[in-house]
Amino acid sequence: MAYIEPAPIKDKENPLESMMERFNIAAEKLGLSDEVYSVLKNPAKQVIVSLPITMDNGKIKVFEGIRVVHSNILGPAKGGIRFAPDVHIDEVRALAAWMTWKCAVVDIPYGGGKGGVRCNPREMSKGEIERLMRAYTLAMIDVFGPDKDIPAPDMGTGPREMAWLMDEYSKAHGTTVNAVVTGKPLVLGGSLGRTEATGRGVMVSALAAMEKLKINPFQATCVVQGFGNVGSWAAQLLEERGLKIVSISDISGAYYNSNGINIQEAIKFRNENNGILEGFHGAEKLSSANELFELEVDVLVPAAVEDVITKKNVDKIKAKLIVEGANGPTSFNADKIINEKGIMVVPDILANAGGVTVSYFEWVQNRLGYKWTAERVNRRSDRIMKEAFDHVYHASVKYNVPMRIAAYIVAIDKVAQTYQYRGGY
Ligand code: GLU
Repeated sequence: MAYIEPAPIKDKENPLESMMERFNIAAEKLGLSDEVYSVLKNPAKQVIVSLPITMDNGKIKVFEGIRVVHSNILGPAKGGIRFAPDVHIDEVRALAAWMTWKCAVVDIPYGGGKGGVRCNPREMSKGEIERLMRAYTLAMIDVFGPDKDIPAPDMGTGPREMAWLMDEYSKAHGTTVNAVVTGKPLVLGGSLGRTEATGRGVMVSALAAMEKLKINPFQATCVVQGFGNVGSWAAQLLEERGLKIVSISDISGAYYNSNGINIQEAIKFRNENNGILEGFHGAEKLSSANELFELEVDVLVPAAVEDVITKKNVDKIKAKLIVEGANGPTSFNADKIINEKGIMVVPDILANAGGVTVSYFEWVQNRLGYKWTAERVNRRSDRIMKEAFDHVYHASVKYNVPMRIAAYIVAIDKVAQTYQYRGGY
């Protein structure tokens, strides 16, 4: 029988509530009017579809597909598509709103959106994933568009899935439309520098924060939680800038080496080992993956999923600086203790915005029909990240608030002002 699996009950704090709590604080500091508050609080569009897919065993399985456009005030919605077993509408709503704030913080002309399909791509064949991606695209054919809503990769999806999306969308329109999606393979109009862009932005914002904290990168130690695209690139680029990466982790566990882990070796091992670090010999395996949060280091980079720093473990954190490669890795309930402990946080909507920044460059190149060099992409994205960091830092001084609230203030202010100019009905 065909059925949709119910969303699992999560042992997580609700990311939507975490997002809203910060939004409320920033809105109050900013003196946002009630009218604009209610416009920005509610997602502009929410689409939920059922996707019947014939699995390799011949049976039909129905998947739930979601796309939320939080806002299109600054421009077309922008944001990734997540394929994961625990996709939930509240999570997608939070992630969509974070995209709105993220694009506003780095000052690119996009609103925010996010998509998700509840599935476990690790247990699916390539053919099953392709059929699911194409069915999802067709179901969202009126939602997506280069001037409406531009998807990209997120957890569980990558360039391969974006290629299928572009192809399906193009077939339905009878013409090749490569600007409908970013994070594509290079040959399909992907941008140089896009793969490493999020990790690179994490590195740029970590170095900017270290300068403020007077931490010398060549004497600094760092932990990176999560070794997917964002974590592995952030680790590699931070290592290149002099930091000693003493611990990394992925779904197989956490690995520690007090002399520093050779990140190139770890990436090579992961690539040759089904994408996981299990059995990696360049470090000892910690008895529990959570131990990595308790290590005495200068910099902690959570680069995996939401809600890994919560009221349950925040007391034990000893890092001086947290740079959020993931979206929503710190729950709202942990913020207060982090602030009391004097830990600086470069928040997700700033720290991981390098990805969407280079997505924007990809879209610009597609529309120009022209390709930029990697040097141009990196130089421009580094500049945007550094300017955004400085902007948020100044707001944190001006409003006397932590960097996270300052980032929300910068973002909400921009979106609210734009809304007021554009006007409503
Ligand atoms: N999924 C990424 C993010 O959360 C990238 C989004 C994009 O490039 O549109 O920022």
